[in-house]
Amino acid sequence: MTVLVTGAAGFIGAHLCRRLLGEGHEVIGVDNYADFYPSWIKEGNIAPLLRSKKFKFIARDLAELPLRKLLKTVDTVFHLAAQAGVRASWGTHFSVYLKNNVQATQKLLEAAKDGSLSRLIYASSSSVYGLTPDLPMTETSRLYPLSPYGVTKLAAEQMCFLYCKNYGVPTVALRFFTVYGPGQRPDMAFHKFFKAILDGREIAVYGDGRQTRDFTYVDDIVEANLAASKKAKIGHVYNVGGGHREELASLFPLLEAICGKPVRIRWLERQKGDVLHTWADIDKARKELGFRPRTDIRTGLQREWEWILKLYSAPKKALSRKG
Ligand code: NAD
Repeated sequence: MTVLVTGAAGFIGAHLCRRLLGEGHEVIGVDNYADFYPSWIKEGNIAPLLRSKKFKFIARDLAELPLRKLLKTVDTVFHLAAQAGVRASWGTHFSVYLKNNVQATQKLLEAAKDGSLSRLIYASSSSVYGLTPDLPMTETSRLYPLSPYGVTKLAAEQMCFLYCKNYGVPTVALRFFTVYGPGQRPDMAFHKFFKAILDGREIAVYGDGRQTRDFTYVDDIVEANLAASKKAKIGHVYNVGGGHREELASLFPLLEAICGKPVRIRWLERQKGDVLHTWADIDKARKELGFRPRTDIRTGLQREWEWILKLYSAPKKALSRKG
């Protein structure tokens, strides 16, 4: 089977490509190396994939590709390309979110209208829930995004739904809850915490540390994508979370134990767009996809720390193309 992974050089996309190649699929990866974070990190993600003869990489903007022609050659699409990150989505930068999250998705869906895809799996986000009063959050909870990023993720999710209903595009949306593990984006909390600890700096914590998150290990996200490509009901939405939530401050002793260094904290004001709590009800994914999150937070964070140590000790020039 040939599959298309958009956002292939990103954190989750690269893990997904590796797993798909391991399963024997032909994989076409697309990524425009958006400059949200340094391209040498993305090149480090892509480099091992390029060793596989079954991997074809297109370093272009999704919206600029002849998508109709490309989709004729693939069976399944995993659509992860997006401008991620809640905090950067305010102000003039919003246009980038609109372009990469909404307009690029609409172009992909237009191109998929007359195709014969078996599924198009869209990477949605817990940020669509925002201020929903329900905890845990279920797929039927009311949606109140609290950030411009959340609005664009929801707009694209709804775009998937309407192309499904009107044109029969076989879309499925997976709402990922805070993903972590090796390869995590440098703007995300654990990556920033580990890097600060490595550098002997204080870690910056927004709010009072009482916020809770449902953290999901990246391999579990990958498993959910694979399961969804085979078993998900077309037109449906599924939560994909670690299945339990952690209070941020309660994890600091664990970070100290993993890094073997004291954690010093600099408390900062809560950021606009940050929700207080996320917690996924994953019953639907359990029942319909057979999804079971397998990696506990201690194991997952240990693996991320080991990756951080390697990442920041590797000679970056060898990886660097442009940034
Ligand atoms: P990432 O930034 O590491 O990966 C996204 C990739 O998409 C990047 O490499 C970027 O260069 C590429 N991209 C952006 N716009 C593009 C375009 N127009 N054409 C081609 N490539 C483009 O982010 P990630 O954390 O791996 O997230 C992957 C997906 O999962 C995103 O859709 C994100 O919204 C979603 N998601 C992530 C999380 C998380 O915790 N990481 C949580 C919920 C949802």
